[in-house]
Amino acid sequence: MNILEVNHLHVSFSTYGGTVEAVRGINLQLEKGETLAIVGESGCGKSVTANAIMRLIPQPPGRITDGSILFKGQNLVDQSERTMRHIRGRDISMIFQDPMTALNPTLTIGTQLMEGLKQHKAVSKEEARQKALDMLRLVGIPNPKERLTQYPHQFSGGMRQRVVIAMALICEPEILIADEPTTALDVTIQAQIIELFERIQRETGVAIILITHDLGVVAKVADRIAVMYAGQIIEKGTKRDIFYHAEHPYTLGLLKSVPRLDIKEARLTPIDGTPPDLFSPPKGCSFAPRCPYAMEVCHEVPPIQTELEQNHHVYCWLQDKRGKALMAQTATKK
Ligand code: SF4
Repeated sequence: MNILEVNHLHVSFSTYGGTVEAVRGINLQLEKGETLAIVGESGCGKSVTANAIMRLIPQPPGRITDGSILFKGQNLVDQSERTMRHIRGRDISMIFQDPMTALNPTLTIGTQLMEGLKQHKAVSKEEARQKALDMLRLVGIPNPKERLTQYPHQFSGGMRQRVVIAMALICEPEILIADEPTTALDVTIQAQIIELFERIQRETGVAIILITHDLGVVAKVADRIAVMYAGQIIEKGTKRDIFYHAEHPYTLGLLKSVPRLDIKEARLTPIDGTPPDLFSPPKGCSFAPRCPYAMEVCHEVPPIQTELEQNHHVYCWLQDKRGKALMAQTATKK
């Protein structure tokens, strides 16, 4: 059952240089208890999508110009700021890249943990303290009683991120959005945080949207993956679909550009070129200027969704029946 459905979402930003179309018509579904990873290179619109779901796009300069975000049937796009304040933290929580900026350096961890709980749930001080202790134990922080009275600077980077995760989960939200949660951490701590996500999901059943550019993280925790490029989703499917049966040239390029321990290849293959200027996005397929298989139609008409298998969708003319026919014709002429 879907608890979140993003339909045809468009987000743009007005700047002195013109309007940037950061998210251009994306569709996403999140099922109860699953982990959906949104992957793509910097600037592809992943974080804007996450912020749009939380209704945290600064307005102005940003604006959700079209589409709907249905949380259990309720369209978040239409909700007042007051309603959103209740939904944020209680129903949908978000954790950010840098744990230090997410914590207030002047307040103890205990105060910060209990703050959200007191705001959203009718609990006594003692119940809030007990819940805060339980959360610190859940995220694997030793000596929770002592830690509750300490300040953020007394925690290491990894421990701070655990505290931020505890804060996000304390009200038992149904959705946790994690925006590059491991990027600011070193590699061994990254692995611990990823394991923590897996354990938390098993124990609490929270649905997770994981925003990342790290395919290693995705391979470990995701159930389904949506690949974004230039503000659009260009391929989505299960982890198996994307890692073993990817069809979009950009997804294939991404997979070839990360180191793999199971394949003996001397060199990684980068994707040539740069993403398009979103002040004036291409008329056809956004990847066409970099795509080695681009056909004439690709430069003129945006590709439409093709279902390869149940739940495996791709936006590429190569996979469309008409595109395949065109390729065959070109091959015959040659
Ligand atoms: Fe390449 Fe055309 Fe597919 Fe775009 S639609 S990825 S340009 S083949």
